[in-house]
Amino acid sequence: MFTIASVGRMVLSGAAQLIYPNACWTCGVLMPPEQGPVCSHCHPLLTVDPFPACPRCSSTVGPHLVLESGCPACAAESLPFTGAFRLGPYDGLLREVILRMKRWSGEDLAEVIAALWARPMADRLAHLGVDVVIPLPLHWLRRWRRGFNAGDLLAMALARELKVPCWQRTLKRIRATAPQVAQKNPTARKENVKGAFRARPGFNLVGKTVVIVDDVLTIGATAGAAARALRELKPDAIYVAVLAHGR
Ligand SMILES: [Zn+2]
Ligand SMILES: [Zn+2]
Repeated sequence: MFTIASVGRMVLSGAAQLIYPNACWTCGVLMPPEQGPVCSHCHPLLTVDPFPACPRCSSTVGPHLVLESGCPACAAESLPFTGAFRLGPYDGLLREVILRMKRWSGEDLAEVIAALWARPMADRLAHLGVDVVIPLPLHWLRRWRRGFNAGDLLAMALARELKVPCWQRTLKRIRATAPQVAQKNPTARKENVKGAFRARPGFNLVGKTVVIVDDVLTIGATAGAAARALRELKPDAIYVAVLAHGR
């Protein structure tokens, strides 16, 4: 039988690993105590984009197709943001992790993923001179049901890495919207989120470079609606940073 003193001795001697083994946060494999938070197999899958992506909409593109004016998926679209950055396509482990972190109990995992994502993302945004990071807000009812907003955790981690402020209250979601995945086509997706956000006056974005953060970008309808609302505050440039792009 364990006493408090014997448990204390076990912790000090490192035997606590037997009680709380160091497991990878995403696949659960046991790791040496010094490794973490994810194993050496999962780490590159969560930090390195395996494909080239369009700098304007973040769709996967062919190796010789990257054009500043956009890719075949976005060239004809008028996007209200200057560019979009992703960690990778919405597929495989990244998709699985995003689905898990959206669950009610996913907050701890979301913290871990946010920290992993923020480092390479900050490197990719470094040349833009970002002034402010702004998360895409959930409607209060959805946030209440889920218990947290993964976008907040991603935005805070990115702001920490970039050493800039994270303004969580700049955007307000003024109406609840049906899930974008339930929308049948791009027009329905755009209509679904049209006017869903408002920028709160009192936040000075004049002349600033802003990054909006969300978990998944598909055709950019939701981030686009948020960017349109932010334009009221006259920022110089708006970029979007996401975990995954899921066309
Ligand atoms: Zn793993
Ligand atoms: Zn594109």
